[in-house]
Amino acid sequence: MIRNAPFISDRAVRAASGLYVGGSWREGPGRMTVIDPATGAPVGEVVAASTNDASEAVAAAHAAFPAWAALSPDERGQPLRRAHELVLDRAGELARALTLEGGKPLPEAEGEVLWGAEFLLWYAEEIRRPWGEILAAGGPSQRLYVRRRPRGVVACITPWNFPSSMVTRKLAPAVAAGNTVVLKPAEQTPLSAVLLFEIFDEAGFPPGVVNLVCGEPAAIGEVFTRTPEVRQLSFTGSAAVGRMLAERCARAGKKASLELGGHAPFLVFADADLELAAEKLTFSKLQNAGQTCIAANRVLVERPALQRLGDLLAERLRSVRVGDGLQDGVTVGPLIDARAVAKVSAHIDDALARGARVLCGGGAVDGLDPERFVAPTILAGVPVDSMIATEETFGPVAPLIAFDTEDEAIALANATEYGLAAYLFTRDLGRAHRVGEALDYGMVAINDGALGWVQAPFGGVKGSGDAREGGRLGLEDHLDVQYLSVNF
Ligand code: NAP
Repeated sequence: MIRNAPFISDRAVRAASGLYVGGSWREGPGRMTVIDPATGAPVGEVVAASTNDASEAVAAAHAAFPAWAALSPDERGQPLRRAHELVLDRAGELARALTLEGGKPLPEAEGEVLWGAEFLLWYAEEIRRPWGEILAAGGPSQRLYVRRRPRGVVACITPWNFPSSMVTRKLAPAVAAGNTVVLKPAEQTPLSAVLLFEIFDEAGFPPGVVNLVCGEPAAIGEVFTRTPEVRQLSFTGSAAVGRMLAERCARAGKKASLELGGHAPFLVFADADLELAAEKLTFSKLQNAGQTCIAANRVLVERPALQRLGDLLAERLRSVRVGDGLQDGVTVGPLIDARAVAKVSAHIDDALARGARVLCGGGAVDGLDPERFVAPTILAGVPVDSMIATEETFGPVAPLIAFDTEDEAIALANATEYGLAAYLFTRDLGRAHRVGEALDYGMVAINDGALGWVQAPFGGVKGSGDAREGGRLGLEDHLDVQYLSVNF
């Protein structure tokens, strides 16, 4: 059996395999090199699965399903609880790997690892709570009831921007519910997943219950959507890829759960606590250097508050330290790759060409590679038809857009195909409810900048997909409904 020896130096992670099938680490036909986004240097490599390996992983998951599903909820919770403890024990190591492959500053990476671990424990507990319904019967010798039952094999595909927590947020509810899993992480960030699967191996999941296949996405996606034994695809990533895979799932009669992109509006009314709004906007905009699906992408500000909010925000953004995520004091790391930097630059250039002004930042950071790092930027006077106001930016850029009335703010906020997260700042309680409920989004934060709580249903509407991860609905997403009519 191949064992993974995690660190070979300060700036490298050795993950000897990316292929964990039926309870064993395997060799595969090739290897994928993992690149440090802060330096461009290789930091590790993983085994890449062949199509055949992916099929065998599905077969292993399928074979493991009946026995796993037959265990009691408490028995299924045991390896999850153990995995939670092991993640806490190895949190520093996991965080370091996350920073090396994803660029996220180390304290933020630690935060992601610990947050991700919460899903393991929460679902181990939640699965023990009762559910189901007993319906009114048609007569004394009839009983009608509704139960939930696990589906079978759930194939999971995760993105690079939360390489640790997206693994646990998908896997924990799926296996707690009695399903088995085959997971494919993003090519750019497989190391976090490999280290987590080392932990799952040690935690005592029976062979085949959890399986990992790193490798070529199209080929593995084909196996996931084509193989009849896969009953559900749980996908987090871009709208384009998610919709393409969902179409294939629909043709094959599989359930597809989609967590897609966003274009979050951040509404600030003139009566808001502007210091608080600037603080929360800074968090929303700079977490993972703006590369989150719920990052504020359009800052809609009631005109009288525009100048003050811009000043407060500029003061905060000018003081952050951008750089290599392993260095002390750095709170904004690199973007994932040069393509991401080019997209952010194109959004800034387009806004400027249409008349926007730079309040701070605007491009490269002195002394840092301009193909890797972008300065936290505020743009004022951004037209609503500019690229940044219509497309997901995925970078540390806050475009300020003025509005004059509540109705205009709601209309601007809802004028997007996406519907994942929205933010609203006001001291008026009536407006908080009125506007919050009028926003066409799966999640609305009022006077707050964070939404990802383990007990809450994270997910969107419209073009952002309709899956829910977290909370009780995260379990429901992995269970079939069965209704029984019993005559006796
Ligand atoms: P992406 O390109 O769609 O990739 C996401 C995952 O899909 C990766 O594992 C990727 O593998 C895989 N993939 C790509 N092409 C595939 C194919 N043909 N068949 C099967 N799998 C395929 O998205 P991304 O750029 O990594 O992630 C950023 C996007 O995710 C943003 O839009 C962001 O908003 C969204 N996101 C949403 C949430 C949410 O909860 N709603 C959370 C985080 C991110 P490779 O990496 O190997 O190409």
